[in-house]
Amino acid sequence: MSPRILFWVPALLRLALVFVVALVAGFFGGKVWGIVALSFSLLLLVGVQLYYLYLLSVWLDKPDSSRLPDGWGAWTEIFSRLYRLRRDDEKNQSELHEWLTRFRQAMTLLPDGVVIMDDVLFLEWCNPVAEQHLGLNMDSDKGMRVTNLIRSPEFMDYVILARYDKPLTITHRDRKLIVHIIKFENRRQILVTHDVTENERIDRMRRDFIANASHELRTPLTVINGFLEIASMQPDLDKATRTAHLKLMTEQGYRMQGLVEDMLTLTRLESVDFPVRPEHINMSFLLGQILSETEALSVGEHQLSLVNDGPDVMGSSDELRSAFGNLASNAVRYTPSGGKIEISWRDTENGPRFCVKDNGIGIGSEHLQRLTERFYRVDKSRSRETKGTGLGLAIVKHVALRHKAQLLIESTPGEGSQFSLQFSPALIAK
Ligand code: ADP
Repeated sequence: MSPRILFWVPALLRLALVFVVALVAGFFGGKVWGIVALSFSLLLLVGVQLYYLYLLSVWLDKPDSSRLPDGWGAWTEIFSRLYRLRRDDEKNQSELHEWLTRFRQAMTLLPDGVVIMDDVLFLEWCNPVAEQHLGLNMDSDKGMRVTNLIRSPEFMDYVILARYDKPLTITHRDRKLIVHIIKFENRRQILVTHDVTENERIDRMRRDFIANASHELRTPLTVINGFLEIASMQPDLDKATRTAHLKLMTEQGYRMQGLVEDMLTLTRLESVDFPVRPEHINMSFLLGQILSETEALSVGEHQLSLVNDGPDVMGSSDELRSAFGNLASNAVRYTPSGGKIEISWRDTENGPRFCVKDNGIGIGSEHLQRLTERFYRVDKSRSRETKGTGLGLAIVKHVALRHKAQLLIESTPGEGSQFSLQFSPALIAK
């Protein structure tokens, strides 16, 4: 039945009943009794309506906590409809609450910062990443103008000119951020921040690497080209000079080859598609090879010793040979003739440790932090003199990373250096 019929039928029936009572009273008791009965019945009917209106107003004062009264007549329908309205409202509210919670959670997990502002840039809400990127605080900054909180001239210009079709790159609180403002609804704007500090750092490293590598390759090439020019312009050069030139050109050729090989090794080590394939490494054999290579390089100019007290390990033998060989060859190249070099492989309580100790020229403490950067040299001319590529320690660092080892450097200028690779006990071969 329709709600209107449910409302009107009982109401009209009650009115009809009042009139029937008045008619019966009038019929048996005369006109006066008829009027009295009509007035009394109408009064009763009005009283009942007032009572329910009162109950309704009490309920409306606290609709959430008080119970809806049971109705009578048309009031039954009114109260049950109010009850249904309240139930639907509660359901909508809880759905809205759930949705808001989910939205906030999703915004918290976003890797980008999100700030919601009104049309005049007053902060309404922001996620934790935006707090970090822009130095905002949702509790204390809510309702404040974003331009008073982000004090960057480029950001001010961006907002003043309102050229929001393109994102803006700003440096803010030592971060490089891409900022984009997007208008939504009529009176709201959303500001999205994306941190590109790390991408910038990698880009800069790549640019520096290319510039350094080109520079390193250009020097030997210039030498070779110079000698080739002399040879073509002076074909009747004496044999001794020609031999000396050829010797120098060969040296420069080898230098270029070493550089290219080191660059390729480094690129391979950095490649994530090329993980370490662990193999059982016979350390006595590997250390024997390192010692022979070091002896060949030293040509009897240093006192070399090898201690092997450590276990066999699991890892890449090519990579460990390259890292150990680089550390040993550095010791030879930076230790004057007559110096001592000790190569050791020991089992410590923290795991196996490879160590090369020399009493060479040593390194100032200000350089230690940067030694593993590509092409970083304490003394450029000395490194060239000793045929260094400037990539040796960068290779050692990457091999260490790939074997979860730690590179430790201790050095005192004029006294010597100790380079150690500390491996974890987990690497020991079973
Ligand atoms: P390089 O090919 O120039 O030797 P590395 O990356 O192997 O490049 O080493 C970086 C720098 O660290 C060297 O140029 C040198 O200044 C310094 N260095 C490395 N090993 C030693 C050492 N054993 N003693 C003194 N200085 C060292």
